[in-house]
Amino acid sequence: MSNQVNFEFSIDFAEKMDAEDPLRDFRSKFIFPKVNGNEAIYFCGNSLGIQPKATQAYIQKELDNWANMAVDGHFHGEDAWYHIRKKSKPALAEIVGAHEHEVVAMNNLTSNLHFLMVSFYQPTAERYKIITEAGAFPSDMYMLETQVKFHGLDPDEVIVEIAPRAGEHTLRTEDILQTIQEHGDQLALVMMAGLQYYTGQLFDMKAIVEAAHKVGAYVGFDLAHAAGNAQLGLHDWQVDFATWCSYKYMNSGPGNVSGIFVHEKHAEKPELPRFAGWWGHDEGQRFKMEKGFVPMFGADGWQLANSNVLALAAHQASLEIFMEAGIKNLRKKSETLTGYLEFLIHKINGDSGVIEIITPKNENERGCQLSLLVHKGGKAVFDEFYQNGIVGDWRNPNVIRIAPTPLYNSFMDVFRFAQVLEQSLRKFA
Ligand SMILES: *Cc1c(COP(=O)(O)O)cnc(C)c1O
Repeated sequence: MSNQVNFEFSIDFAEKMDAEDPLRDFRSKFIFPKVNGNEAIYFCGNSLGIQPKATQAYIQKELDNWANMAVDGHFHGEDAWYHIRKKSKPALAEIVGAHEHEVVAMNNLTSNLHFLMVSFYQPTAERYKIITEAGAFPSDMYMLETQVKFHGLDPDEVIVEIAPRAGEHTLRTEDILQTIQEHGDQLALVMMAGLQYYTGQLFDMKAIVEAAHKVGAYVGFDLAHAAGNAQLGLHDWQVDFATWCSYKYMNSGPGNVSGIFVHEKHAEKPELPRFAGWWGHDEGQRFKMEKGFVPMFGADGWQLANSNVLALAAHQASLEIFMEAGIKNLRKKSETLTGYLEFLIHKINGDSGVIEIITPKNENERGCQLSLLVHKGGKAVFDEFYQNGIVGDWRNPNVIRIAPTPLYNSFMDVFRFAQVLEQSLRKFA
């Protein structure tokens, strides 16, 4: 899509792009943080999304319900808490490409990874290996390591990490598929990111699932950086399970509720092991308070505890913005916006080689984030951004991650970033 736009490094061009952007007004639905007293240009939605203006009222409403009804709020009022989980389902299903019964908002991301592993990682003497990407997010590494140890196995023998080839920064799909094939009968699970947090690479989830299922392994994805960013089709791709967080691209507030996906082919498998709680138990029978766990149909059967109502209120405020904007529209703008960022960086960089974009060039292999290796000037290059009111993110030893989001970033934001980058490189590189 972005290939069709003839980008220009000019303020007039950026203004024209904003004027023609059908989503341009969505940024007015957000509160921008301040840097040095001024509204920041915010490119850090990959780490923590910004606050929708509506969030406060959504939370206040539940505070009022609690104040006015207390325990009656569980079953009374227009949004009885007993059923509150259902509210986010249409949006979540749309965002990850699933049926509503395949998704539910609950817990936190790392907790959900563990709970889903209980169901989908049952190693046997023959089939026990797990494939993941090298350099995965630390929480995911610790999760895998401790799950494997929990089963009495050695992480070094079980976990197969796929690394980029020498001199490359991202994974080749062919290498992932080949590794899956190599471990064939011994492979129990592929558990990796859908979109890599460090490089910004979006993996070919459909191809990975196909290859893994062919050798008889399950596939789970951590979609922390993919949900609300890339276009997903978890149901059609036959992904077995997935989980994500809501506070990055989904703008639902620090540490807010995670979500899970369990494919409908696993919706009615009481034989799948799980660590259960009363909220996953058959809803109609829940208050009989009897022995004998009977899971609810679909993803709901993985719930443990009653819903965190205040958290879901903040989540809902944001999800409704996504629904209004439309996932396809967001993705379309995102490709162009990130394409513009890429164009400007190449323009500034010329053939100096100071900045190297390690995120794939192909827009089908990335979300909105570009990861920039800074070969000269170090962190000073990055600090200049903040001095100029631009919030990005620095990862040691020398990576800057910039994530222009289609909901609240503009082409002018990207243009302004490029100006500051140019100035910064002149000073420090
Ligand atoms: C952000 C992120 C996490 C964070 O996990 P929490 O349980 O929400 O603290 C985990 N994994 C990945 C891949 C992430 O990007």
